[in-house]
Amino acid sequence: MMEVQTGVREVDLYINGKYVKASNGATFAVKNPATQELIAQVSAATEADVDKACRAARDAFEQGPWRTMTVAERCAKLRRMAEIILERKEEIARLDAMDVGKPYLSTVHHEVPRAANNIKFFADFIEKQGGEVYPMEEAYLNYTRYEPVGVAALITPWNVPFMLTTWKLGPCLAAGNTAVIKPAETTPLSVSLLGEIAKEAGIPDGVVNVVHGLGSVVGTALTTHPEVDLISFTGSTSTGKRIMKNGADSLKKVSFELGGKAANIVFEDANLDKAIPVSIQAAFMNSGQVCLAGSRILVQRTIFDEFLERFKKAAMELIVGDPQNEDTKMGPVVSEAHYNKVISYLEVAKEENATLVCGGKRPQLPDYLQNGYYLEPTVYVQENHQARICQEEIFGPIVTLIPFDTEEEALKIANDTEYGLNGVVWTENLQRAHRISHHVRAGTIWVNCWFVRDLRAPFGGFKKSGIGREGGHHSLEFFTEAKNICIALS
Ligand code: NAD
Repeated sequence: MMEVQTGVREVDLYINGKYVKASNGATFAVKNPATQELIAQVSAATEADVDKACRAARDAFEQGPWRTMTVAERCAKLRRMAEIILERKEEIARLDAMDVGKPYLSTVHHEVPRAANNIKFFADFIEKQGGEVYPMEEAYLNYTRYEPVGVAALITPWNVPFMLTTWKLGPCLAAGNTAVIKPAETTPLSVSLLGEIAKEAGIPDGVVNVVHGLGSVVGTALTTHPEVDLISFTGSTSTGKRIMKNGADSLKKVSFELGGKAANIVFEDANLDKAIPVSIQAAFMNSGQVCLAGSRILVQRTIFDEFLERFKKAAMELIVGDPQNEDTKMGPVVSEAHYNKVISYLEVAKEENATLVCGGKRPQLPDYLQNGYYLEPTVYVQENHQARICQEEIFGPIVTLIPFDTEEEALKIANDTEYGLNGVVWTENLQRAHRISHHVRAGTIWVNCWFVRDLRAPFGGFKKSGIGREGGHHSLEFFTEAKNICIALS
């Protein structure tokens, strides 16, 4: 295990190229969810601080060189930013392990390199973009330019703080916009580094700003601010609704990545040697705190008993422990409030007569983790797919197995949800794979795999799982305004 820096950090706001305290000196505490140890005191932005950050971003947009420099110059700085992220990947992963509770090893090997690639990808991608030309016979020529929109509020959740922020920041900056970032108040540590990383990469002051604090205060100030033109938000469906209302008066453009309750459908002809380990990952990665989690596992009745036995064994073998340890596969959930929400579903499951297969209690842990927000990987069987544990996003290490008999029944259960972020299908039958993929109402369907991402592909949700798409040209469409120019030729 690498040495982890201990002690309480001071984390400040990053406004117009400088780290600053909140104007009223207020701070809030951040704890390590594995131990409840205090790890940071974070400056809590006031409305006046948010105003300063938005105005700095506006000035940098209107006057600064960011919007007007050549695309090549802008992209060189973004590529440098990506390199710095990789140079600091251990530090970033340690911080995410410390305030989110996510296992260090997968963070350093997967999430942080993906974060660097989010920035580099959009720098490379935008350099290859063109516009359209519409000639009107010999008389006129129309051509289209894609210009930056202005100041973007980038609001992100606590489950994947650093990677998800760069997923927005990459296209936002590549297109020439400026940004005010608001990370979740529970997990502000890694995102706070983006200020100094941007500075070191040569990105002008005011282009990247970071404000911390409660969603109800800082988020509201940001989403109602007159200088903010567009909001890219990832978080819960209920917050998305609030942001939409708050942004309505100033007609802000919005892109929302919201909650999910994916069906992971396992047919009798599935290759279980692949389906079981990947379904375990889809259920318990990041302690189940993943919007794409396959938290409803629909299993065809003919293979139900075999699947259940093998899935249970694999769940019970997962090593739960200190996120900083390299053999840990699952850490705690993120906070006391979230832990209380997650474990409240143990009671709900009991009241709804679900059958507990394994888990449902605190794991055996060393003394120093006794105060951590831990729950064993927990598996239920529930015949009634309308039960609350099959409908609500628990966002913890709790999954439900639901038996089905026919393809039609599987589809009906899969689609009987208010969410539509993603779905997973396990079958060796090509026609069935396509059929099911076409009829599950969700933004991404993975067949015989899960969480494989191509950054060019659209990502987003049907129904209450979101508005708009991110990825490749979909992200650029959001972060640009299309302008048509019409020239008279005679
Ligand atoms: P949340 O909605 O509580 O918070 C997300 C962010 O919004 C935080 O920064 C929070 O401070 C801020 N916020 C809260 N109230 C606000 C307000 N009134 N105005 C503006 N901002 C406000 O979500 P969470 O609990 O941090 O994250 C978990 C949720 O995020 C889950 O529902 C999960 O499915 C979803 N999520 C979705 C995706 C996706 O890509 N679809 C990815 C990750 C997480």
